Amino acid sequence: MGVWTLVGFILTIFGLLLYVIFARKEEAQELKRICPQCGLSVPARRNFCPSCGKQLVVAQGLRSKTCMFCGRKITQDATFCDACGKAQE
Ligand SMILES: [Zn+2]
Ligand SMILES: [Zn+2]
Repeated sequence: MGVWTLVGFILTIFGLLLYVIFARKEEAQELKRICPQCGLSVPARRNFCPSCGKQLVVAQGLRSKTCMFCGRKITQDATFCDACGKAQE
């Protein structure tokens, strides 16, 4: 086993380490949301803020309606459809 085998081995480990770190970073950014009440960064899968207890996820169907033109789900108070842009009544 020569020096270059060792160097190659170390570089491979280093590359894997970097990959893991960056993959985790992206995942962490993707799966976080900011609590509108206290500003805490909360994992997106949590429905309530662990700090102030504010509900972060609005239950589907409660505050949403269906676009009468394209059928996409939009918020109840939306004046225009996000998908097709048509005005709602
Ligand atoms: Zn909060
Ligand atoms: Zn629409």
